[in-house]
Amino acid sequence: MKPPEKILRKLEKLCTQIRYHDYLYYVKNEPAISDYDYDLHMNELLEIEKQYPGLITSDSPSQRVGGEITKSFKPVMHDHVMLSLANTYDREELVDFDRRVHSLVPGEDVKYVAELKIDGVAISLRYRDNKFVLGATRGDGVRGDEITTNLRTIRAIPLVTRKVSGAPGDFEVRGEVFMETKDFEELNRRQETAGKKIFVNPRNSTAGTLKSQDSKIVAQRPLTMFAYSLILPAESEGSISTQWDSLQLLEELGFRMNPIRLLCDTIGDVIDFWEKWAHDREKLPYEIDGIVVKVNSLDQQTRMGSTAKTPRWAVAFKFSAKQAETVLNEVSWQVGRTGAVTPVAELTPVFVAGTTVSRATLHNVDEIIRKDLHTGDTVIIEKGGDIIPKIVEVVLEKRPKKAPKVIPPAHCPVCSEPLEKSDEEVALRCVNILCKAQIARRIEHFASRGAMNIEGLGEAVVDQFIEVKMVSDPGDLYSLKKEEIASLERLGEKSAQNLIDSIEKSKSNSLERIIFALGIRFVGINTARLLAGHFNSVDSLLDISSEDADIIDGIGEKTVESIIKFGKSPEARSIIEKLQNAGVNLAQDKREIKTTQKSAISGKSFVLTGKLERFTREEAGAIIRKHGGKVVASVSKKTDYLLAGEDPGSKLKKAKDLSVTVISEEEFVKLLKSATE
Ligand code: NAD
Repeated sequence: MKPPEKILRKLEKLCTQIRYHDYLYYVKNEPAISDYDYDLHMNELLEIEKQYPGLITSDSPSQRVGGEITKSFKPVMHDHVMLSLANTYDREELVDFDRRVHSLVPGEDVKYVAELKIDGVAISLRYRDNKFVLGATRGDGVRGDEITTNLRTIRAIPLVTRKVSGAPGDFEVRGEVFMETKDFEELNRRQETAGKKIFVNPRNSTAGTLKSQDSKIVAQRPLTMFAYSLILPAESEGSISTQWDSLQLLEELGFRMNPIRLLCDTIGDVIDFWEKWAHDREKLPYEIDGIVVKVNSLDQQTRMGSTAKTPRWAVAFKFSAKQAETVLNEVSWQVGRTGAVTPVAELTPVFVAGTTVSRATLHNVDEIIRKDLHTGDTVIIEKGGDIIPKIVEVVLEKRPKKAPKVIPPAHCPVCSEPLEKSDEEVALRCVNILCKAQIARRIEHFASRGAMNIEGLGEAVVDQFIEVKMVSDPGDLYSLKKEEIASLERLGEKSAQNLIDSIEKSKSNSLERIIFALGIRFVGINTARLLAGHFNSVDSLLDISSEDADIIDGIGEKTVESIIKFGKSPEARSIIEKLQNAGVNLAQDKREIKTTQKSAISGKSFVLTGKLERFTREEAGAIIRKHGGKVVASVSKKTDYLLAGEDPGSKLKKAKDLSVTVISEEEFVKLLKSATE
């Protein structure tokens, strides 16, 4: 059948698009569309090629494993091709896969292994005589990049495996290198502080890291690996007969294995496994984008074989997108309680991972500049767990002609006063403390659950109070009368009484709550708690001096300066006077706060360096925190102890230079014992 012209054009367009996205994804590590959308394009192409097989060319994107090799590394030929996986998002297609599998081995019983599909980077590791000798990326499936030095820095990759009796010492292991979500977030925080590139997601940062030319950088990045496939040399092939047993053997050889896997008798069991993890994926400490289903019998796998691109005995059953494409209709600007003016993206509503998203956070003006946002841009938004949706990319090729650049406002959108932006701050700020928006948000903060916990005083009620000028600062709340409140729209007698009761109750709140409620810049709830442990009243807090920054652990100069500035402002003085006159508790007995001061660890600041024998660093950190101490990232003169394990880094020298006490793991254990006695 001769294909219509329309189909030919469509095919050409799809091939061009997919090639372009392959390049962005595999070579540049900067995807411009979501995986879901990419897979839609690919499936469309496959559909056309299925209908018109004569159109399949050897250079069609459907015929090759995605990646490419980069010029900067030595190319390495794979001993066995590293294929991609066919994928589906759909139960029925999975059932089709099961049917196809059964038709390839008619009359035989087929079992499946269901594994989680970690969203990382596939690598191949060669072992000779149980020693790690060569590591490579998948590349184009036939040739990959040789990245042995980089992979040697990953602790989950054994340099020498354990010996297992009966198992050969020469073999190849395939696995997925990835970053755990919290490590990825921490890395991005460090990158941001150092003014370096922020990574889009853990997969992207893993791929970028593995391609680094400097293995020292790789060593500093929190990479890990799960092994998922073992390839034995031809002469030992018969010694293992199933995927399930190879996973077991990999574990015995000392590889880090994902304990979550299931041997399934039917495709129904596989679907149940998929459903469970589609539901619980956010509970995992790493990102997965689906599950991988593999025929368990290696003999059946061999008989089924592969297509040019994917094995016939495995499939990736993916979860629907956590990312989606939509349009940025407008950027609105919100004024917060400290006057910070933050941009919010107003989007065409789009359904992502279970909810409809119509707004996304943009953090600050710098982000708008960095992303070069234009009104009308097509953007990719991403939702992860309970995190507010964010814009990850702009799809530049979809930008409408003449789309206007998003320009930050020069004046406050609420009070129209000019906005300010200082060099050291990323936020745009309205400095008019009488700005209605700021007043409203300050009162809302004062009443919020973590602060004075005044029930019934949400955004709408606060806005009404301000509109009719019943309150102009938090101090005014305490002179409100029931009748006044009840006269407002939508607020009857009963809610007025409840509100009055709640306000009354808040008078006896603890000191830390009132300190937090005052909304002093840089004083969050934890800082408020620390301050309440050192000052016995709001009055004494406002007498804070710059030397206190050195004395109070956890309180920096910026915070102290901010408290001093707050204390000097006539507005703050007036609020505090009103609170005092109303009988709000502004003091606290110090003894109530200092509970765990006795132990040798409590209140002390620790820095950890080097490799510890008995604990991982995370465990040591958790123990210190449990005993009331804290762990900080770098050594300063405020550090009490540097806990140094094997091969300590530059922190040791710095600690010595600053005369910080350096303790060994053994001394730490002694300290721990004395703390628990
Ligand atoms: P894939 O990611 O769909 O599946 C194969 C990969 O799964 C393996 O290479 C391996 O890395 C991984 N994997 C994780 N856990 C595994 C396990 N337990 N067992 C076996 N493999 C496991 O295929 P791919 O070829 O790596 O990438 C193609 C996919 O990449 C596309 O389907 C698309 O989703 C995405 N992609 C996106 C863009 C874009 O622009 N957004 C561009 C190209 C590719």
